Amino acid sequence: MSDTNTHDWVDLRSDTVTKPTDAMRQAMLCAAVGDDVWGEDPTVRQLEQTLADSVAMEAGLFMPSGTQSNLVALLTHCGRGDEYIVGQQAHTYKYEGGGAAALGGIQPQPLPMADFGGLNLNEVEAAIKPDDCHFARSRLLCLENTVHGNVLPLDYLAQARSLTDRTGLQLHLDGARVFNAAVALQCQLQDITRHFDTVSICLSKGLGAPVGSVLLGPAGFIDQARRWRKVCGGGMRQSGLLAAAGLHALKHHVQRLADDHRRAHELAQRLADAGYSLNMPQTNILFVNVAGLNRERLAHWLEQHHIKADCLGRDSIRLVTHLDIDDDALARAIKAFETFKSEAQ
Ligand SMILES: *Cc1c(COP(=O)(O)O)cnc(C)c1O
Repeated sequence: MSDTNTHDWVDLRSDTVTKPTDAMRQAMLCAAVGDDVWGEDPTVRQLEQTLADSVAMEAGLFMPSGTQSNLVALLTHCGRGDEYIVGQQAHTYKYEGGGAAALGGIQPQPLPMADFGGLNLNEVEAAIKPDDCHFARSRLLCLENTVHGNVLPLDYLAQARSLTDRTGLQLHLDGARVFNAAVALQCQLQDITRHFDTVSICLSKGLGAPVGSVLLGPAGFIDQARRWRKVCGGGMRQSGLLAAAGLHALKHHVQRLADDHRRAHELAQRLADAGYSLNMPQTNILFVNVAGLNRERLAHWLEQHHIKADCLGRDSIRLVTHLDIDDDALARAIKAFETFKSEAQ
């Protein structure tokens, strides 16, 4: 594609494509900073403490990416020869380059994911290895929420907690989009996070910051995680410039996630009316089944209409609403999909 001006293109590929708003850039410009490896950046500390308070955990640790935050969590929970139990399509298993195994000697134990996005807890229990030198030591259960745009029910989280309490596992949440889950459930963040030992949250998805994730947990855990962050190359210096974007997002971009959810719902409704096959979204992500359509032609049609969406190579395309998709952009996307059905097919 030649033109990448987001004013012209409606980019539905991901909520990572958002650009910092003018107000966010202003907050970044004005941030008080110091050397965060020495623990002297006040803005980073404020961000870590603000999020720790929101999830009712003791401490937080700012990192450049969600991948690093999850990796550092795994390195801190598990040692060499330990394993974590995780969904087969989970980000922490499938989309993070095998980091825990490659860098930590940590074995994943992937399990199939149920349609709602969770793991069957009986299967989790059956996968826990006995204390026997034949086996890796099962240490950790890793869940994701939202997971492929779905919200895990609170009573499922409570059941997962009681399983891990009973079996001595730790429980980590890849909460890249956990704010979307809280807004969708209209609950407090801590109603979700209180079931977990540790949580990783992304600021660079729907919250619209350019960079950054925060790992949250008990103070002793976060002290150890700080060492692993340094080992992974994530010790940053005047990173208050970036943390300021995160603080701005927490203040101004959380409640508006409901707008993204409303728009995703409207998009889904209009596409269903136009004859597309899809499930109604719970948050800001929907999947449209394109198995029966001419995907090359659809990709070309969308490109001609300045809509960015991943069409090729899969049976479903993922459409994601976000901060840079307003009602006009949404209307353009709906129109392009509708006219494809009526004219181009
Ligand atoms: C985006 C994402 C991450 C980590 O993302 P980075 O791109 O490394 O910041 C982790 N888990 C889930 C579910 C994600 O969507």
